[in-house]
Amino acid sequence: MLVVMQAHATEEQVRGVCQKIEALGYRAHAIPGAERTAIGITGNKGEIDPGSLEEIAGVQEVIRVTKPYKLVSRDIKAENSVIRFPGSDATIGGPTLAIMAGPCAIESRDQAFAIAERVSRAGAQFFRGGAYKPRTSPYSFQGLGEEGLRIMAEVRENFGLRTITEAIDNESLELVEQYADIIQVGARNMQNYSLLRRAGRSKRPVMVKRGMSATLEEFLMAAEYVMSEGNYNVILCERGIRTFADHTRNTLDLSVIPAVQRLSHLPIIVDPSQGTGKRNKVTPLSRAAVAVGADGLIIEVHHRPDQALSDGMQSLYPDQFDELMSQIRQIAPVVGRKVSVAGLNATTGLAGVETPGSDRAVNF
Ligand code: PEP
Ligand code: MN
Repeated sequence: MLVVMQAHATEEQVRGVCQKIEALGYRAHAIPGAERTAIGITGNKGEIDPGSLEEIAGVQEVIRVTKPYKLVSRDIKAENSVIRFPGSDATIGGPTLAIMAGPCAIESRDQAFAIAERVSRAGAQFFRGGAYKPRTSPYSFQGLGEEGLRIMAEVRENFGLRTITEAIDNESLELVEQYADIIQVGARNMQNYSLLRRAGRSKRPVMVKRGMSATLEEFLMAAEYVMSEGNYNVILCERGIRTFADHTRNTLDLSVIPAVQRLSHLPIIVDPSQGTGKRNKVTPLSRAAVAVGADGLIIEVHHRPDQALSDGMQSLYPDQFDELMSQIRQIAPVVGRKVSVAGLNATTGLAGVETPGSDRAVNF
């Protein structure tokens, strides 16, 4: 159920409706839009009686939402959501493409700094890197844990990059939210509902990667889990799905981008690194992702891919990342997008940085 407020409804009226919904034992999600606020009603005790809400001051109408996902849907918010970060001009979902780049895993301070310096100079505004790695083999490098998170925080300080890193369970999420700007929920955890709920109670934006065999609806429902707990700063990420094709590690499903954008107001970015597993396919698929209308890219870059402790085969050399950025700079305007100016973050980084702090990133 969805309560659409009148265009001129006051904040107090919105609060009044929310209180009524909560008094009835449901959860109210007030989502301001460009023209009016809509209030999503969630809960698992059956449907609310619309009659009890229609008469409240400021209410325009009460609509039944038939789709299984509600808060991610364009029914509740027609315009695209833009995620902002206090103290930074980086955005996700706005006219500027969100470019995230960095190693698959943080291996050392020197490694992280060498890569951060290059990706920042090339125009990336977000630094990626895993401190907790969900590896297929228990004998593969599992990440540096909290030490990796500390290194990422130093990268943030020194280069002015916002950081994104994966939480693999509730315990690591506690730490990730203290050190990083965005919490990544990996493909293997897309249906880990307790982790999604915990991420939904965090103040940090959450990026949910598509599960290896997730349908569009399952993908959106994962984001719905996060939002249902009150965290509306969610980013989706297409990273390839498992198919019969074996010429690439996964099959990057770029058709999901317009499909998601039709149904949801949430930003969606593309990971052509996990999506292809092969360095020589990352740049062509990045070009395609931008052309298809993705809100950004997350790219694995390593200064010595042959020595990388994970995913070296799919990591770009920094020079290749420079070239990729120069190509997408040309493609972006064709689809009405911009790419952040190269080198801007590297030079202005120190001044504008705030500690990942108290403030929730602002969305809507
Ligand atoms: C990664 O980003 O390095 C990663 C493990 O991603 P995914 O969860 O998509 O496999
Ligand atoms: Mn990886």
